Amino acid sequence: MRAIRRFTVRTVLPEQLAALDELAQNLRWSWHAPTRELFASIDPDLWSDVRGDPVALLAALGSERLAALAGDEEFTGRVRAAAEDLHHYLRDPRWYQGRTTPAGGELPRAIAYFSPEFGITSVLPQYSGGLGILAGDHLKSASDMGVPIVGVGLLYGAGYFRQSLTRDAWQVETYPLLDPDGLPLAVLREDDGTPAVVSLALPGGRTLHAHVWVAAVGRVPLLLLDSNVPENDDAARKVTDRLYGGGGEHRLQQELLLGVGGVRALRAWSRLTGAPEPEVYHTNEGHAGFLGVERIRELVGAGLSVGEAHEAVRAATVFTTHTPVPAGIDRFPKELVSAYFGGDNTMTGVPTETVLALGAEDYDGGDPTVFNMAVMGLRLGGRANGVSLLHGQVSREMFEGLWPGFDSREVPITSVTNGVHSPTWVAPRLAAVEAERMGLDEITAPEASGGWLDPGKVSDAELWALRGEMRAELVAEARRRVRKSWRERGASPAELGWVDDVLSPDVLTIGFARRVPTYKRLTLMLRDTERLKALLLHPERPVQLIVAGKSHPADDSGKRLIQQLVRFADDPEVRHRIVFLPNYDIGMAQSLYPGCDVWLNNPLRPLEASGTSGMKSALNGGLNLSIEDGWWAEWYDGENGWGIPTADGVEDADRRDDLEAAALYDLVESQVAPAFYGRSADGVPSRWLEMVRHTLATLGPKVQATRMVGEYVHGLYAPAAEAGRLLAADGFAAAKDLAGWKAHVRASWPQVRVDHVESAGIGEAVRVGDRLTVRAYVSLGPLSPEDVDVQVVHGRVTEADVIDEFTAEPLALVESYEAGRHAFGGEVRLDTSGPFGYTVRIVPRHRHLASVAELGLVANA
Ligand SMILES: *Cc1c(COP(=O)(O)O)cnc(C)c1O
Repeated sequence: MRAIRRFTVRTVLPEQLAALDELAQNLRWSWHAPTRELFASIDPDLWSDVRGDPVALLAALGSERLAALAGDEEFTGRVRAAAEDLHHYLRDPRWYQGRTTPAGGELPRAIAYFSPEFGITSVLPQYSGGLGILAGDHLKSASDMGVPIVGVGLLYGAGYFRQSLTRDAWQVETYPLLDPDGLPLAVLREDDGTPAVVSLALPGGRTLHAHVWVAAVGRVPLLLLDSNVPENDDAARKVTDRLYGGGGEHRLQQELLLGVGGVRALRAWSRLTGAPEPEVYHTNEGHAGFLGVERIRELVGAGLSVGEAHEAVRAATVFTTHTPVPAGIDRFPKELVSAYFGGDNTMTGVPTETVLALGAEDYDGGDPTVFNMAVMGLRLGGRANGVSLLHGQVSREMFEGLWPGFDSREVPITSVTNGVHSPTWVAPRLAAVEAERMGLDEITAPEASGGWLDPGKVSDAELWALRGEMRAELVAEARRRVRKSWRERGASPAELGWVDDVLSPDVLTIGFARRVPTYKRLTLMLRDTERLKALLLHPERPVQLIVAGKSHPADDSGKRLIQQLVRFADDPEVRHRIVFLPNYDIGMAQSLYPGCDVWLNNPLRPLEASGTSGMKSALNGGLNLSIEDGWWAEWYDGENGWGIPTADGVEDADRRDDLEAAALYDLVESQVAPAFYGRSADGVPSRWLEMVRHTLATLGPKVQATRMVGEYVHGLYAPAAEAGRLLAADGFAAAKDLAGWKAHVRASWPQVRVDHVESAGIGEAVRVGDRLTVRAYVSLGPLSPEDVDVQVVHGRVTEADVIDEFTAEPLALVESYEAGRHAFGGEVRLDTSGPFGYTVRIVPRHRHLASVAELGLVANA
């Protein structure tokens, strides 16, 4: 076979149309309907053939058509207006501009956001699931708010796979190759026009090179590193071949390129464009963690010790953990990491041992042979968070081994609940009604108030008709997809007449679409197939199900689940009421969420860190029917959908599935379907619509990614920037001081202890309001009393003799004696009745510590 070299010839547009190129290259079109309408109006059929891809549309226009457009003054006027609108969007002050940190300081000048995947539009398929979609929504909302983020990721030659099915319902993966020249990307160039090159050393004297592609996500630049470049040997060219394609070493190389190469790409970006250097580095999951190692190397090169550099880097780093599933965490054999950071390949100034120590599971229950990327994330991130309240709590418990001696409640991992980018996810049809019914003041209010939902502004009949249109559109789309899938499965058109009657635009429609790891339980609905059939085929109140999802290519058990589901859906008895749509992606998602009346989610609690698909459904007036896990555990309020009761604590997995599936069937039968089909005299389900209005009005504002990005800015980015600046000031004086102090405290800690505690002030009958006087005699070795807090920890005691909901209050130094011994004392007011307990502990104290547990050192009485 002859090797074919493919490339894309870009269109040269006539001058009057030059702005179209800019409009196509800036991905804002993907969430800005007027820009898409402008492109569609050029040639609606072609627009649909190229699946709404402006770059492809322009490439497909012949020169005659272009000349005609260039001469069409009405059209060129619209192009000019659209370009002007984009320029305003890119330059005008937005939410971020003019704001300050709580202390009145400047917000970060730039924030780097690292992620292994970004789901922005189906035109740029560089994502596999929720993590990537979240990263895309984060960038888009940051752009809308004027937050100066710069994204950093990899450009995968094949993106994530396309899913189809065999006749026998087995998942087949294909990897369509992407040509960066045909994508809305521009290569970063040196001043002399040659591509900028980022390089890093590999074992055996090899070098890995990458070019940097830049996507414009509204105001946010996204830098994507690509190793498929002529400077590389064949193996190195394949490093960015596929998203999550390989295991082990391939994956490690990708993460090195993302972390280390990503920092180098940022430096090239600033050097070549004059953009400010990031003041904060945010890593979306642990994959990009090596970025901290690279920044330590930079600072060591500038004269800091490794410990000092570590402090400076930590202060300005934010780490977000996304999974309570251990299999979701990257762990590499220690030897492998050693090979990449040791021997001939040691990073200048950063000893191999230092790197290995960052990811070591050197705690109770840890595996001494592995290098754990999440652990490194926590050690390099001065601030860390989970992605829902419940996930924050689960993460504190999961990682508490890193802070021995502290209660999990004190583990320094907070939470920011995920959100979604509404301009991307709200059906244009619904968004148009919202925009039309809302006053300008309401649209520009910081939080949408949902006032357009007043029955005076939109009637039940109108809302119901709108939901019906959205459902009907989905039914039509689903039929197209079912037909296409059966054609791929080998059926002839003549066999497929039945597809025209698949699903009904009037039947209660339940959607379920997500990746297919075991914990998401794709097949829970099949637990009792007779009961499911009865629901689907109910004579008066039928239900129809639309299911989609990809299994990881290496996960045969996931593929078996898909097969089981598809085989059920293939049965002529039910195939008009349940469909599996192959190749779940952003494009499908955008038609799925608006058309489903109910969004189903039944993960094994608490393994769904947040989940976001249900949020997108809610924004379109869908009602959630979900296990109370992730975001739903936080915001289910009894009126905005249904919580599926969980059988927490039932050890037998089969039995737990049976119980939870039964609860699901019961809910659908006794509550969901009756509410949907319960029509009032005018034929409208008023109870249902009440829930829809309530969902739109109350969940609508909360699930927005703008709310999420705002929380990151105020809760994490601003404090990280301030801490980073503080430690870097005056030639890193504070970083040096902090590193020296920590080393001194660590070395001295074995001599720190509580010797003796005395109390007084309470008699036989203790009452609320009584005061307990506590005096603690402690030994601090060479530490001074200013280096520590001696705290009385008190609160209600449970039956297990644990202090619940405790408060820690510092005691004051009373007296110092010889040999590092001191007395501390104070009073505790007893505020609550019931069983009470207290104890005394010593913790390190320094004004630059971000949390009491930071050093993981505590001396308990
Ligand atoms: C939103 C979305 C996801 C994530 O959904 P979860 O509820 O977090 O599983 C995955 N894939 C696509 C295409 C999405 O749009």
